[in-house]
Amino acid sequence: MNDIAKKELWFISGSQHLYGAETLEQVRRNAGEIARGLDDSPHIPLRMVFKALVTTPEEISNACQAANASQACIGVVLWMHTFSPAKMWIHGLKLLNKPLCHLHTQFNAEIPWKSIDMDFMNLNQSAHGDREFGFLVSRMRIKRKVVAGHWKDAPVQKKLGVWARTALGWDELQRLRVARIGDNMREVAVTEGDKVAAQLRFGLSVNGYGTSELTRRISDLGESEVSALLETYESEYHLAPELLKKGPKRASLAEAARIELGLRAFLEEGGFMAFTDTFENLGSLRQLPGIAVQRLMNDGYGFGAEGDWKTAALLRAMKVMGHGLPGGTSFMEDYTYHFTPEKSYVLGSHMLEICPSIADGKPSCEVHPLGIGGKEDPVRLVFNSPAGPAINASLVDMGNRFRLIVNEVTAVTPMANLPKLPVARVLWEPRPDLETAATAWIHAGGAHHTVYTQALTTEFMEDFAEMAGIELLVIDPYTSLREFKDKLNANEVYYHLFQQRM
Ligand code: MN
Repeated sequence: MNDIAKKELWFISGSQHLYGAETLEQVRRNAGEIARGLDDSPHIPLRMVFKALVTTPEEISNACQAANASQACIGVVLWMHTFSPAKMWIHGLKLLNKPLCHLHTQFNAEIPWKSIDMDFMNLNQSAHGDREFGFLVSRMRIKRKVVAGHWKDAPVQKKLGVWARTALGWDELQRLRVARIGDNMREVAVTEGDKVAAQLRFGLSVNGYGTSELTRRISDLGESEVSALLETYESEYHLAPELLKKGPKRASLAEAARIELGLRAFLEEGGFMAFTDTFENLGSLRQLPGIAVQRLMNDGYGFGAEGDWKTAALLRAMKVMGHGLPGGTSFMEDYTYHFTPEKSYVLGSHMLEICPSIADGKPSCEVHPLGIGGKEDPVRLVFNSPAGPAINASLVDMGNRFRLIVNEVTAVTPMANLPKLPVARVLWEPRPDLETAATAWIHAGGAHHTVYTQALTTEFMEDFAEMAGIELLVIDPYTSLREFKDKLNANEVYYHLFQQRM
């Protein structure tokens, strides 16, 4: 996983020279104390480093350039303790290419009613200093997160924590290499897209590889590696009787282990943290990778089936964002519906590739025919997923821009056992209801593939869309179809006017 310990956020405070050296020293001390307080916060998983008090255009530009150049700095938190005339910020903000969070806070929480005088007023000016700064950032059309409230309050720190985690995912995308093994499922539209535009927008690179890359590594494997992995399977999962040591399908499990080892070696050697495959282009691979993909996702790799490189990249970014949080994150597909007069549900699943990070308990390891692709029966992990709130996120290429669509859902326990269903699955109730959510999703052009997560909330995706400068559409308990359609039309105009694809 991305090395969180080496990453940091820079806290920079703005002021000006009008107040004199003594006041500026106080400003510096206060800003340092806020940064230390945020650094110690249990809600912010990254180091918060007080970097500078800046009072001139030169100091501001220097601080922004230093942030750009720093490998460790993945985002900048700005706060104007006093008034900081914002024309001083123009050059610096033109240069800044790291995510920006404007913390609108104040050093003291409450007004000292009895002692407040003009010195106090002149020191504690963020109420108007931050507004001057906010105007300029809006005037420059720079997307950022604004967090308002007292810096010691948990809700403020939690918002900063969400933004910090999202910045970590964004930082990961800047270097992400996605291996597209076997290209796209033939004739499928939504998994395609402009890879050059994606690299310009998100930083990630996508390149194609043949399955011979995997089969070559599989043929190099020693038997001891395979037996060691079989032992891991035995200890981590409930193996179906036919896959046990003397079972009739043991050879299928050994082949699945070889595929995992070959795939893992290929990804590690190439520095790929996300990948796709497609059942139509398996070459001489004997099974569609099932358990291999599931376990790689569980280790943090992004994955998209049928060549879906956008979902693979998004999954990797969301895995990084959610690292260490409770709840799992998986590749997902809206598979089939359960309509009842009272409520309707989606059964989410895939042919094989659901990440065991969302498993409720120990998965069972089984082998069944796939019924598609004409290969040997693939081994897969089968499990249910816990009930509770979750989101589904889909990244699509609209031709002139990328669009991120998020649906808030509630996972529920299936009403019955599913004894004959040989794949991992989740049953959920979309917000506001299936009919409204699915109608909105289809109008938005949302894909059948998504990233499903119980670790992240819509707020993360909102911050992510701001960092990437892409369109975000949220389907939540408040979604009304008429307003949603108006928003789609309004966004067409907005992106036509303000954001032409690079
Ligand atoms: Mn699919």
